[in-house]
Amino acid sequence: MLLQEKTFTSSEHNDCNRLFKYAEDLGFGDIKFKIDAKTGLRAIIAIHNKERGPAIGGCRHIYYDSYDKALEDVIRLAHGMSSKAAICNLPRGGAKSVILRPTIIKDREAFFRSFGEFVHEQQGAYIVAEDSGTSPADMDIIAQVTPYVTCTSAGGGDPSPYTALGLCRSIEAAVKFKLGSNLNGIRVAIQGTGHVGYYLARELANLGAKIIVTDIDQTSANRCATEFDGQVVSPDAIYSIECDVFAPCALGAILNDTTIPLLKASIVAGSANNQLAHKHHGVMLHQRGILYAPDFLVNAGGLIYASANYDHIDLKEAKAQIEGLYQSLWDVLERAKAENKPVSEVVDEIVEERLTP
Ligand code: NAD
Repeated sequence: MLLQEKTFTSSEHNDCNRLFKYAEDLGFGDIKFKIDAKTGLRAIIAIHNKERGPAIGGCRHIYYDSYDKALEDVIRLAHGMSSKAAICNLPRGGAKSVILRPTIIKDREAFFRSFGEFVHEQQGAYIVAEDSGTSPADMDIIAQVTPYVTCTSAGGGDPSPYTALGLCRSIEAAVKFKLGSNLNGIRVAIQGTGHVGYYLARELANLGAKIIVTDIDQTSANRCATEFDGQVVSPDAIYSIECDVFAPCALGAILNDTTIPLLKASIVAGSANNQLAHKHHGVMLHQRGILYAPDFLVNAGGLIYASANYDHIDLKEAKAQIEGLYQSLWDVLERAKAENKPVSEVVDEIVEERLTP
């Protein structure tokens, strides 16, 4: 299409304005686009911060019903990675990428090689890892064209078991802090029994917790419940189920005006990124007396693991760092209690302090 054939509507202009303003307000950074007609690749790399070091961030390869949604997602996620690296004191910046999943990929090898070239053009400021819709096999293809990749099948593979380990330690800290007990007999409702949810159920069951699970994939939920002696509930019922901990391990923005009033849990701690639909939902949880364990802190195990793998750091050292999320969360909870502020507000303040040069 010739450029002059397309005139933009004012709502298209508004979307563009809104997203650029959003990125500006969050303190970006580089946002790069690649469209490759030959392979069908349409991808965005967003680098929020590279001051603290090269950024590691997953590549999400999912269906988006608009470019705006993809751009908004990558902006939010890249910003979240800066916060995650900062709260764990990792020498990493924050970045993420998204690929708009096409209906058909004619040649997966060419598709991911093209994406790998895009990563390579960032000259190491962005190191790609797997995420929703990508696998170690895709990282292997990317590794053919760039060294700026981790989570390949020879280089660590799936980080989810480590994300689940860090999350389980965080849940232990939250339960100790709020309820003064260990996990024995504690009821945890897990939303999403995919990679992280499944491994989390295993960790929790080993410590004597009682598992309640849901997933839109019934087979996956049933498998998890059978293996760990849990109970399955419908996706809609998970918010209002009687439990001690609600662990969102599926989607973002699930803590909102509709769901928060339904919660019976006294703790929310899960792996899903960007759980709070809006900042004020952190305040709402605080007002309801529900302890919110910040998502980007409790799900940092995967990043710590991927980072250690990339730098060839001993796995024992990485595991000790992941176990350390217990203390990191404890410190944030103590500060929030001492200052009588919502945990979500305090954790943002700490990140701000660490990201400000
Ligand atoms: P996944 O895709 O393997 O699992 C997600 C599961 O949620 C799937 O089984 C899916 O069917 C289910 N699901 C989707 N919508 C649902 C709904 N409405 N109700 C119930 N279940 C639903 O993803 P994952 O790797 O397990 O990651 C889970 C979340 O944690 C994501 O938000 C991801 O971004 C985040 N996260 C993952 C990692 C990691 O190491 N994998 C690290 C940090 C953050």
